[in-house]
Amino acid sequence: MTDLTRLSASDLAKLISAREVSAVEVATAHLDRIAAVDDRVHAFLHVDRAGALEAAAAVDRGEITGPLAGVPIAVKDVVTTKGVPTTAASKILEGWKPPYDATIVERLKKAGMPILGKTNMDEFAMGSSTEYSAYGPTNNPWDLGRIPGGSGGGSAAALAAYEAPLAIGTDTGGSIRQPGAVTGTVGAKPTYGGTSRYGLIAFSSSLDTPGPCARTVEDTALLHAVIAGHDPRDSTSIPQPVPDVVAAARLGATGDLTGVRLGIVKEFAGDGSEPGVTAAFQESLQKLVKLGAEVVEVSCPHFEYALPAYYLIAPSECSSNLARFDGVRYGLRAGDDGNRSLEEVMSLTREAGFGPEVKRRIIIGTYALSSGYYDAYYGQAQKVRTLITRDFQSAFEKVDVLVSPTTPFVAFPFGSRTSDPYQMYLADLFTIPTNLYGGPAISVPCGLSEGLPVGFQIMAPTLADDRMYRVAAALESAVGTFTPPAL
Ligand code: GLN
Repeated sequence: MTDLTRLSASDLAKLISAREVSAVEVATAHLDRIAAVDDRVHAFLHVDRAGALEAAAAVDRGEITGPLAGVPIAVKDVVTTKGVPTTAASKILEGWKPPYDATIVERLKKAGMPILGKTNMDEFAMGSSTEYSAYGPTNNPWDLGRIPGGSGGGSAAALAAYEAPLAIGTDTGGSIRQPGAVTGTVGAKPTYGGTSRYGLIAFSSSLDTPGPCARTVEDTALLHAVIAGHDPRDSTSIPQPVPDVVAAARLGATGDLTGVRLGIVKEFAGDGSEPGVTAAFQESLQKLVKLGAEVVEVSCPHFEYALPAYYLIAPSECSSNLARFDGVRYGLRAGDDGNRSLEEVMSLTREAGFGPEVKRRIIIGTYALSSGYYDAYYGQAQKVRTLITRDFQSAFEKVDVLVSPTTPFVAFPFGSRTSDPYQMYLADLFTIPTNLYGGPAISVPCGLSEGLPVGFQIMAPTLADDRMYRVAAALESAVGTFTPPAL
């Protein structure tokens, strides 16, 4: 019998709707796989066996139909799930069970998609390796001694380890795309405002974007279509129809890119990517040229300031968003012995509940926003953000999409970048400009370097999510998909 965990979401959906397999069988196969391998991978912080089987049974009873009905999914632990523990991988939220579902979770449930559990991540989505999870890191299925990327390393590893066919991530600076790149899976950051932030535990509200993760481009597009679209509960949600990303992916899969102009960013060239990453990227670019695409060099002179601008804007917003974790309203409370003041209890709670990277960001953000420094740091960073947006706009007058490696280096060994925060921040060198601009971008596996996956990033103009899927599917048709060694 076929191993159901090896099938794509699209094939699983067909088998389920034709009643060749039941949704309960599909959910069970994935839950059993999690039970068999997750002690080695540690992609999950919480597995909801009962909830997943119940949702699957409802599909089998014919109560819900739809393009992904019965296809199970893993959800990053920064997304609220009613009655199911949600910690954002922080001690400060240990044991918290949200009283409501995020909009995207509501949409998954309406689509009949059983939620297998909650995936590991860097605490509050701050990091690029899952090493900042308060519950221990996730191991990359390609090499268990290496990082699976971050912050959404759990979602990406769950896909690569065949524990789930689909997953939800969130991308503030690269946390969907970089984990996708280093695990050989696909991850898309939709246009900012194209997917609802309602029910995400906020990190940097002007950047946070939930999005789809899968092993194929078509599966990613199918999930994108389920979760995207206007939500009146999110004030930055875009009140416009979602472009037909599934049709675009299917068009791209025919392998014709005649007349499509791909922009390569001049300023990315000297940025110290590993030679194996550059080689895999260049080879893939040539394959796209064979499909009819044209390569044009463009200049985006302000991209070199993207990383410093991001590391002022994101911490500033996080220092404000994380003020709500005070020991009064949620989760952990430390030192409340009846003799201490409210201030002291708050401070002891935050001291005990937050990890080192989260504290670093809160301190940087508080400093950057303080009077006297606001104009010099936060104000300047916002100006840079505008200049980066203009760089994208003028590039998109000349080309249809921009392309680059997703990340300068392949999955690195644990511990090799935690001692120097800047080394960790470099993981998102190529992904961050898009977040500052707000456009969509996707990472697609394009080859291997020293046996480890390399990601190819495609960035499109805001609201042109369909365009990036077309190029992504064409690339996939030319390079194929990549399977890690058996666990
Ligand atoms: N690695 C980046 C950071 O640490 C991006 C995180 C994200 O996209 N959530 O902030």
